[in-house]
Amino acid sequence: MVTPRIAPLPPDTWPPALRELLDSSRRDGPGRENLFGTLAHHPPLAEAWLHLAHVLTHQGLLEPHLRELAMLRTARRLGSPYVRARHEGHARDIGVAQAAIAATAAADLDAYDWSARESATLRAVDLLAVGTALPAPLWHELSGVFSTPQLLELLVLVGQCAMVCTTLNTLHTPSGGPTVRVDPARCCSAGQCVSTAPEVFAHDEDGLVTLVAERPAATDRLRLAAALCPSGAIQLTAPATTTEGAPLS
Ligand code: SF4
Repeated sequence: MVTPRIAPLPPDTWPPALRELLDSSRRDGPGRENLFGTLAHHPPLAEAWLHLAHVLTHQGLLEPHLRELAMLRTARRLGSPYVRARHEGHARDIGVAQAAIAATAAADLDAYDWSARESATLRAVDLLAVGTALPAPLWHELSGVFSTPQLLELLVLVGQCAMVCTTLNTLHTPSGGPTVRVDPARCCSAGQCVSTAPEVFAHDEDGLVTLVAERPAATDRLRLAAALCPSGAIQLTAPATTTEGAPLS
């Protein structure tokens, strides 16, 4: 099981000021919870991070489908299957064709019939995501199809998405929660699991272990609870990590 370099904090230890802001992430599943649980180590940074994401998502000036294409390509360039999977879902939700979504993962962007705006956006992403300056002809092309605010937003959008991908990949943050299995037949009701990770484990009416959360985040507390069980009644199966996808060179 890959251990995150910085383990996500359990939600009930998140700073109160952030808990409400981050609460929506918990409904999105453990991958999101792992990301924000990691950011919760640095509350002011987490707040700024989420505010920027909110502005880009809800007050952005780029067309939503261009925003999703840019993020899909950034995630592909930087090898972040978690970010790609999330934005594949968002792209489908706003009507982006499956063929276009798939084409953002191709080595050869020219294999798809992009519009001029889409093509310029994706070629810019290919350079920006890996820190390469935009050549004058491409900047000229972009300036011809985007307003000044949109140009600024595109640069920040790619940078923000790259920040997410790089953080997750560097920290080996799991993209989901581990699968937790309990075997009540082996449980001797010692209670270490319940006292260590009450957000995941509880006792049933017979005092035997039962699960509260089917998809918990991959916290240190969960790992500790499994390790402390004296009868081996708890099994954790590793989630996928965020680093499974090879970056596009
Ligand atoms: S720690 Fe193990 S033995 Fe103790 S209650 Fe939990 S599952 Fe049962």
